[in-house]
Amino acid sequence: MKIHFLGGVREVGGSCIAIETNYGKVALDYGIKVGEKTANQFPRDFDAVIISHAHLDHSGNLLDLSRTNSVLVGSRMTRDVTTDLLRDMVKIQRMNGNHFPYNNHDADNVKKSWWIRDSIALPGMLIRLYPAGHVAGARMIGIQTEGKEILYTGDFCLHDTEILKGSKLETLPKEPEALIVESTYGGTIRPRRSELVDQLLERILCTIERKGNVLIPAFAFHRSQEMAKRIDQAMEDGVLPKYHVYTISKLAHKITGYFNSQKQLFTKNIQKENEPFNYRHVRQLRRTEQIKEPAIVICTSGFGHAGASLHLLNEWAADENNSVIINSGYLPPESPLKVAKEKGELIMNGTKVPVRAEVEQIELSGHADQVELIQLVETLRPKSTFLIHGELEQAQALSKEISGITEVHIPETRETIFM
Ligand SMILES: [Zn+2]
Repeated sequence: MKIHFLGGVREVGGSCIAIETNYGKVALDYGIKVGEKTANQFPRDFDAVIISHAHLDHSGNLLDLSRTNSVLVGSRMTRDVTTDLLRDMVKIQRMNGNHFPYNNHDADNVKKSWWIRDSIALPGMLIRLYPAGHVAGARMIGIQTEGKEILYTGDFCLHDTEILKGSKLETLPKEPEALIVESTYGGTIRPRRSELVDQLLERILCTIERKGNVLIPAFAFHRSQEMAKRIDQAMEDGVLPKYHVYTISKLAHKITGYFNSQKQLFTKNIQKENEPFNYRHVRQLRRTEQIKEPAIVICTSGFGHAGASLHLLNEWAADENNSVIINSGYLPPESPLKVAKEKGELIMNGTKVPVRAEVEQIELSGHADQVELIQLVETLRPKSTFLIHGELEQAQALSKEISGITEVHIPETRETIFM
């Protein structure tokens, strides 16, 4: 058997791994490098392409397969959200006047070729999917072939979050021949999640006390719903006083519908509610003009470089009573949020404007940190471990910690391993 590391190694972005046997060939993820103009060219001759979750760095290249007969496999949530994100990608490319060879019809073809499965048998190969935490519908991928077992984690998280169950170690295959594991936070130990949530609510409370506005840029998928639910629950529990709270994003509102109809993906507490993502204190708006200030607004884009979040950043940044809470760990260089945070300024219509609002980054991540990554390796005891989806320093730091338990490799792009 051969494992081809086609993308998403020694970096985050463009994830794709091919497993090739005498009987056939499958791909695990088919992603793009978000924000980069030229897409990766991956082979198209797969018997099946298994998608771990609906983040574009794992699924964004699928339009490239939309005119082939490829079979796509993954969860229902991953299918639904991926299709919407691909349509959104088509829309943005058109709006920016870029030449883009795909249209909505191609995005719909992706949906049509999707098999919603938790396991699938191919000639000489058995594939099983396991809940991965991380985001709604995310799966790890296990492959049994040639008498060997391989586990690909995709992005994962072991601890429960406010809405999602973490991946359960006891359900995963023990002593696999190979573990292919993300290492985004391979060298990082993060504070406990509850501390970060307290910090977030504290920031919001301080802003409410001075009657300011809170801007929370968030991704349309998962982060937006998680943030809205968290604030909604805090108001219900009396942790936060009543205040205007809004979400603004057509795409996020559509995805919220999927969250309501697939509530079995979430924690027991969420499942007890009838429509858990129909919030009691958070209203969905279509336009920023509908906001009644002072308010807390959760909106796209998550990086603050477009849409309602850019508009509100420009409008609210100069007032010291307001605050901006960034919950993404990564910000593209030169993005308005990054410049606002690091240099305390914004460029509006070509002129520099000082940022007086409080800008704080509180990263509520859905990735395993070093502690959880070690826990995974210690529990599963793989023969070989391949570290991918992480900057080299992060992978190396993790490698040091686990090399006593397993043989560790940090593959290079396009490297092929024979097993
Ligand atoms: Zn992800």
